[in-house]
Amino acid sequence: MARPTPAPEIPAIIVSRRGAQRLRDGHVWVYRSDVMPADSVPPGSLVVVTDERGKLLGTAFYSSASQIAIRLLSRQPITDLEGLIRTRIQEAIAYRERVVRDTDAYRIIFSEADFLPGLIVDRYNDLLSLQVLTQAMDSESIRSVILSELNNSLKPAAIIERVDPKIRELEQLPPRSSGALQGDKTSTIFSMNGVKFHFDALEGQKTGAFLDQRENYAAAAQYAHGEALDVFCYQGGFALHLAERCSTVTGVDSSRPALEVADQNAGLNGREIEWIEANAFDLLRDYSEAGKQYNVIILDPPAFAKSKKNVDTALRGYKELNLRALKMLRPGGILVSCSCSYHVSQADFLAVIAEAGQDVHRNLRLLELRTQAKDHPILLNVPETAYLKCAILLLS
Ligand code: SAH
Repeated sequence: MARPTPAPEIPAIIVSRRGAQRLRDGHVWVYRSDVMPADSVPPGSLVVVTDERGKLLGTAFYSSASQIAIRLLSRQPITDLEGLIRTRIQEAIAYRERVVRDTDAYRIIFSEADFLPGLIVDRYNDLLSLQVLTQAMDSESIRSVILSELNNSLKPAAIIERVDPKIRELEQLPPRSSGALQGDKTSTIFSMNGVKFHFDALEGQKTGAFLDQRENYAAAAQYAHGEALDVFCYQGGFALHLAERCSTVTGVDSSRPALEVADQNAGLNGREIEWIEANAFDLLRDYSEAGKQYNVIILDPPAFAKSKKNVDTALRGYKELNLRALKMLRPGGILVSCSCSYHVSQADFLAVIAEAGQDVHRNLRLLELRTQAKDHPILLNVPETAYLKCAILLLS
């Protein structure tokens, strides 16, 4: 069948053999070192990607700044970019309708994993929070298509953009401040698994809550009993879910603003939870030396390994946390241990927990080996889309 030829104004980018192989293997990124010099290609352009022989590999967004020079949009020529973006947004929404339950807060668009590289959109009840990560997604024409489609499909009360200044700097984009793109409302209350949370679009980390843990909250709650300690609790995601089943719940975090929201969330749900502002490493050391005991301990630290270089340090961090936690768990207790570092593999993460178990001479049964919630899809050919590990273990 004859393929339509791409519009002549779309610049072409040639990739090396290694880059071409990567795309043929199903990945969607090509690094700068695998792209032939492309100085005349404007930043953020839609480009046609070919191998050294001129064979078409697909159509992509080009970044002149990022190490990820090429983010593939389609393996075909694209004649109607606006139509493609609209369809992809509709498909992302339809996918959530199939897989998301018991919540009005979830990720609607997860960049590559929804074939919309460089765009993240989260829904919190009637608000949408949007983040742009690349030159191409930042163009006014693409922004206006995104807003128009989100409005048509979801009719939110407001759409708020959260800017990550570091990402804009890396992409060599002009600074921009966070704020409403439309509508006046910037805060709301959302609920997941029957638990209510405050959301303020202009406060907090990431785009608000850690939506990727939503299914893990419910899973952890199933096994919860007795006294629980939620370490790295942020705004209380795990703690609030455990509170229904546990006699006492304590949440620990080093961020006072996060704990203030956590406390408001407890009030919203009529729960009494103790919140402690502390460095988790210090607190776990002090508590374990003091002989404190719990029935459930959650460990959900920030990403320790931000790059491959930090993996060993990260593993040492996980080891220490898990060891301290295991020392404080009563027999029959539950450890929920998470890692959101993409660079730490699931196998290495489990090996560290196993080692910690050996060090305390206890047996650990793996009840559930979980990952991010399904609204944060994982593409098998794009390993970077799988980052969250959540092991639920029974200590005997
Ligand atoms: N479990 C949370 C998400 C945790 S994110 C949820 O489900 O919503 C990681 C948290 O670790 C952040 O809230 C951050 O403030 C906190 N943090 C980072 N370093 C810390 C430290 N050394 N001690 C205690 N908390 C820390």
